[in-house]
Amino acid sequence: MTGPGFQWLNPMGHHYGIPRLVHAVVTAAAEVERQRPGGAPLMVGDLSRHTGGRIPRHHSHRSGRDVDLLFYAETPAGEPVTSPGFFKFGPDGLAAVPSERGGPTFVRFDVAREWLLIRALMTAPHANVQWMFISSALEAMLTEYARARGEDPELIWHTETVMLQPVDSLPHDDHLHLRTACLPDEAVFGCEGGGPYWPWLPPLPMSAPAESDETLATALLQPIEVEPHPTNAKTAPFVKLPSSNEGTRGLSEPGAAPTKVVR
Ligand SMILES: [Zn+2]
Repeated sequence: MTGPGFQWLNPMGHHYGIPRLVHAVVTAAAEVERQRPGGAPLMVGDLSRHTGGRIPRHHSHRSGRDVDLLFYAETPAGEPVTSPGFFKFGPDGLAAVPSERGGPTFVRFDVAREWLLIRALMTAPHANVQWMFISSALEAMLTEYARARGEDPELIWHTETVMLQPVDSLPHDDHLHLRTACLPDEAVFGCEGGGPYWPWLPPLPMSAPAESDETLATALLQPIEVEPHPTNAKTAPFVKLPSSNEGTRGLSEPGAAPTKVVR
């Protein structure tokens, strides 16, 4: 339930995921704690059920490839605070927290820690990030911060590409939803990714080995070989279907000539 730099948001939640996703989140949270020690832990929301399948309040989270991560927060004065829960951060980076939830009245989006987390996830081996659902305003704050820090432009481009404010669900201004893509060996075993597969992810297996142009041209120009007829071809080239119930099976019009089928 807890580890270096992370904590489950809800002990009764769903916390099963494929091992490489769980490992990526645990490692990234520890990396944030290592680089900026003394902060509040990453609050980890739902992953999936032990056996997978639909869980309440989620469209996805069915196959161990999704995780909800609450945002790192700090006071307006810059002191780290434990994320108070699902509170909406506006374009000004502030979220209002009612006093009955322990206040302070407002908390601020902790851009520095959040960027460290995202960078660790984007660069983790096998994290294979397909999507990070997050509001456009928070995405802009993160990528502007990354540019100001002089981060690798390619990393920022990849991050901007996987970040998306969904149009068919909540804007994700109160948490980050991370989805990992299917790795090539998982795809072989039936993992159906759907959606884009980014060019910087490990290459997917081809359905057939690539043939060179020369091989294809040689095959095209070869004479066509006709297979010899079977010995009984002259005696029974055609087979008549029984005509009794063809109509009911939709195989022929009533009253039509008996169908001939080449065997
Ligand atoms: Zn989610």
